[in-house]
Amino acid sequence: MNVCVLGAGTMGHGIAQVSAMGGHDVTLRDIETDLVDDGLAAIESNLDGGVERGKVSESEREETLSRLTGTTDLAEAVADADLVVEAVPENEDLKRSVIAEAAERAPDEAVLATNTSSLPVTSIASALDDPSRCVGLHFFNPPHIMRLVEVVLAEQTSSEIREFAESFVDGIDRTAVVVEDTPGFATSRLGVALGVEAVRMVESGVASPRDIDAAMELGYNHPMGPLELGDVVGLDVRLDILEHLREELGERFRPPTLLRKKVRAGKLGKKTGEGFYVWEDGEIVGVSGEDDE
Ligand code: NAD
Repeated sequence: MNVCVLGAGTMGHGIAQVSAMGGHDVTLRDIETDLVDDGLAAIESNLDGGVERGKVSESEREETLSRLTGTTDLAEAVADADLVVEAVPENEDLKRSVIAEAAERAPDEAVLATNTSSLPVTSIASALDDPSRCVGLHFFNPPHIMRLVEVVLAEQTSSEIREFAESFVDGIDRTAVVVEDTPGFATSRLGVALGVEAVRMVESGVASPRDIDAAMELGYNHPMGPLELGDVVGLDVRLDILEHLREELGERFRPPTLLRKKVRAGKLGKKTGEGFYVWEDGEIVGVSGEDDE
């Protein structure tokens, strides 16, 4: 199958990687050549890590890379696509225009999927002439490690496309859960609720980021604490999701001032080298605002 991924950022390159590892030919598209190249380089580095850890064989690495192409040309990217997955920033107008533009240039029978974490898939689908071909495929970060994909059914998604989506997810060795199109779906709503409370606890001095994260890791068996997870997801992404959930579900999702300050300062987490933690080469090397580590 030909898969086209729009957006080569945190999620897009990972979705491209797992699709190629699942045997599909993948075109990765972003708006600038550097961004496409960064995405492809990140995939190569993930695969190298997999080979080092014995999780990926040399031949799997080579085959995966040979199935991947990068471009900035939208028409070229979607020309033969059976499935288009958009992973552009979490903004409804942007996603509607990106998906509509892709559908115009893609074959009529192509399936259009959105990786939105919180926006209504029903509204994104309604940007299309045939909204029944649209579905949410909500991957988790990082897609090459995380096994879950939420298949989000828009009001208009046909049963044929639901089956297609479930079978695609299964074929790339992931597990699908099917959810109705509700704010935050099954996962973001719960995950963000925990994350936002953790930020409020840092803000009011209840405990340090490290202790809050350790409490959830050791006390509740979470593999990663809520603040570290926020840094990995991207604090800007978290803020966008919170704004949306606040609008839809009320003040309990109001973004804390501390989170806004971090985003304004460009401290977006792992991707910029600082969020609640300080990051180097993908590892935590300290706590933001503390200089004793
Ligand atoms: P990101 O900012 O890392 O990447 C977005 C990329 O899209 C950028 O490289 C940008 O240049 C590119 N882009 C912008 N306009 C484009 C266009 N018209 N065509 C092609 N590319 C374009 O963002 P991200 O974290 O990868 O998030 C992408 C989507 O995935 C969002 O909807 C987000 O809510 C969702 N998501 C994110 C996470 C996460 O942990 N970061 C998890 C699940 C879902």
